[in-house]
Amino acid sequence: MRKVFLALIICLLMCGCAKNAEYTKSIFAMDTVMDLKIYSENEEALSNAEAEIKRIEALLDRGNKSGEIYKINESKSADISAETAEIIRAALSVSERTDGAFDITIAPVMDLWGFYGGEFRVPSDGELKSALENVGYEKIQLNGSSISIPESTGIDLGGIGKGYTSDCIANLLKNSGVNSAIISLGGNVHAIGTKPGSDGWTVGISDPHDKSQLIGKLKISDKAVITSGGYQRYFEQDGITYHHIIDPKTGKSADSELASVTVIADSGTTADGLSTALFVMGLDKATKLWRESDDFDAVFVEDSGRIYVTEGVADVFESDDDFTVIKRITSLQ
Ligand code: AMP
Ligand code: MG
Repeated sequence: MRKVFLALIICLLMCGCAKNAEYTKSIFAMDTVMDLKIYSENEEALSNAEAEIKRIEALLDRGNKSGEIYKINESKSADISAETAEIIRAALSVSERTDGAFDITIAPVMDLWGFYGGEFRVPSDGELKSALENVGYEKIQLNGSSISIPESTGIDLGGIGKGYTSDCIANLLKNSGVNSAIISLGGNVHAIGTKPGSDGWTVGISDPHDKSQLIGKLKISDKAVITSGGYQRYFEQDGITYHHIIDPKTGKSADSELASVTVIADSGTTADGLSTALFVMGLDKATKLWRESDDFDAVFVEDSGRIYVTEGVADVFESDDDFTVIKRITSLQ
């Protein structure tokens, strides 16, 4: 009995002394570079994370013939996995709370602009008008894991897929015993725990007017930090810039005077959906939604360069520029 007790003590001491090493991995998936960094003894967790990213990519890429989004878009009516149903349900919930500013049925409009295939063109107003007739999240019928959409409607999860992936990777790492990690899926960041020797992770927010610069930094832990901005994907024609975040009301690049929106939330899925939606909605409507909600904070950069930060992250936001803090209550009368 004494021997067992001694062995247990030695084992506990060894575990306590084992030093976490830094392991990193870069992966190209979902059309972007993904950087994973963990402080752990379990290097294998990174290979498992890579496999998980590839699995979700295959599931959600609407161009993958064996994926479920492809299946829905082709068959218009399908039985899907509980997982895909859950992501679509999360997307529909963002649509509802943003009055349709977020809408995964935007696919036919994305196709017209060439943002999906990469052959950019400016569609005519007539083309946009008829494509918009097929857009509308309320057209999706989802019962359990049975889904159907009208004949000319299509689903595009580009606005929420990376956030969902970051949630899955964060869960996978935590379940593998990793309690300090930072993952960046093409700029969509998810932080686990804190950086060793620090009380958080510092996440930079790109300057939408000059990607090589930052407009500020956030110190966070156990949060997703996800940015949407017109500067992330665009083309120019005849001196006009057309970007990839579409206002479902017009079928055109959202023109809300915002250059970028960063959403900070526990859930990457929510943060991703909301960042796209708030970009479409503009500062006033986004502020109103923030005041009605308790599951996210945000940093807004206007086209003018002015920065607005919601109260919940004001203390952990640092910038060389002036910024305005958006408060829950504007005035006490
Ligand atoms: P994000 O970078 O997360 O803002 O997502 C942009 C991507 O979401 C685009 O490339 C499209 O695939 C898709 N998208 C564009 N506009 C919308 C919208 N209003 N609602 C939902 N998804 C959208
Ligand atoms: Mg998004």
